[in-house]
Amino acid sequence: MTVSVALFTADLRLHDNPVLHAAVREADRVVPLFVYDDGVRAAGFDVPNRRAFLADCLADLDAGLRARGGRLVVRSGDVVERVRAVVAETGADRVHLAGGPSRYAVRREAALREALGGRALVVHDPVVTALAPGAVTPAGADHYAVFTPYFRRWSETGVREVVPTPRRVRVPEAVGSEPLLPRAKVTGTSPGLAEGGETAGRKRLRAWLKEGIAGYESGHDDLAGDATSRLSPFLHFGALSAAELVQLARREGSPGADAFVRQLAWRDFHHQVLAARPDAASADYRDRGDRWHRDERELAAWRAGRTGYPLVDAAMRQLAHEGWMHNRGRMLAASFLTKTLYADWRLGARHFLDLLVDGDIANNQLNWQWVAGTGNDTRPNRVLNPVSQGKRLDPRGTYVRRWIPELAGVPDRLIHEPWRLPAPELAATGYPEPVVELGEGRERFERGRGGE
Ligand code: FAD
Repeated sequence: MTVSVALFTADLRLHDNPVLHAAVREADRVVPLFVYDDGVRAAGFDVPNRRAFLADCLADLDAGLRARGGRLVVRSGDVVERVRAVVAETGADRVHLAGGPSRYAVRREAALREALGGRALVVHDPVVTALAPGAVTPAGADHYAVFTPYFRRWSETGVREVVPTPRRVRVPEAVGSEPLLPRAKVTGTSPGLAEGGETAGRKRLRAWLKEGIAGYESGHDDLAGDATSRLSPFLHFGALSAAELVQLARREGSPGADAFVRQLAWRDFHHQVLAARPDAASADYRDRGDRWHRDERELAAWRAGRTGYPLVDAAMRQLAHEGWMHNRGRMLAASFLTKTLYADWRLGARHFLDLLVDGDIANNQLNWQWVAGTGNDTRPNRVLNPVSQGKRLDPRGTYVRRWIPELAGVPDRLIHEPWRLPAPELAATGYPEPVVELGEGRERFERGRGGE
């Protein structure tokens, strides 16, 4: 009897999962294994919102495997030790795993390879992204630093075929499992956190393809309209496959679907940058010589959604409430922190990682760097103005009033500039004065960003 291990990481799904598919195809028995990894916890990534979403994903994965005659095997501790133990217990010949771009994933892969000795570790790529990092490269370099040429090559390169969902999964009877962590046991989550899991993800995906994607091109920047897919947490945990999404959207063939595919390419873009420059998770991708400003009072106001700039504050309050934020909100909140308060992007990125249910090293750190101007933006010194952006993206203040109820009675024309209300009226709302004046913020940025 042959046994293989399918080690789940950022691919918590049954549909289009090359890791599970290969393990099921090659062996008589498969151990579908998930390890609550001490290393992930130690690195500070095990935060309540993602822990809760993970709990949903694992419960759903277990249910899906049981419906196919199998079950999920769960262990906790050091991932390399736990895999080695499962291999020893079951006599498995091979371990299958998805490739990952982060420094942690690369080290885990190397440590597993060494620990497994003669037994094979089979790494599958792309599983997490639509195109594997490094699948396309420019002449003379190991990655693309600019999105547009990357996107051109990415678009010309075919996405791999979707692999079928296993019909039957046979797990060795003797292999034991620890209990799953129930979502109800996770405390400290955002009150409006979405439900996780492949089943929930596929439901959202079906609704998105039917009702959402066609309007994506025109609606994706409409903050109040909330007209994006909200598929990012499912992609982060791999409850949905990026390759499958690209295939499905391409089949739609509408301008909305094209715009959506472009966003999926952004996701791949950041993954290929991180794979080539794993240090960019914490170091500037391009060092601009910034002398960042640090003011704890300002930082606290930003985190609490009390900067006095309604669009920034609405976005920050959405983050706290849902563990998710609209892309435009993320850009605005990040631009405000790094270019108006002129605070180090790492402080903002850490706060996002503490709360975002889709919080992801590649997408979060590199988008933060993009906005801060230390990353891959070809116009690194552009500053987003929360007032003019507000007038453009939320002209009637619907998004602002949704998240800042104390501004409900402010007229539309002042909703993005409440400091222009007569002082007693502003005071009566309880909403703060601006934490810093925009002109002063711009000067800080100009002074601090060095000689560019
Ligand atoms: P849609 O607009 O429906 O897009 C579809 C998918 O494309 C998304 O689910 C996502 O996987 C991908 N995508 C869209 N925009 C981007 C982008 N700019 N970069 C990379 N992928 C993108 N995304 C994360 O998944 N995790 C993060 O931790 C994260 N942090 C961010 C931090 C900042 C400062 C900024 C500006 C952006 C960040 N993003 C992050 C990217 C983007 O904001 C989210 O992916 C998007 O808002 C998710 O919502 P959606 O699924 O409705 O996206």
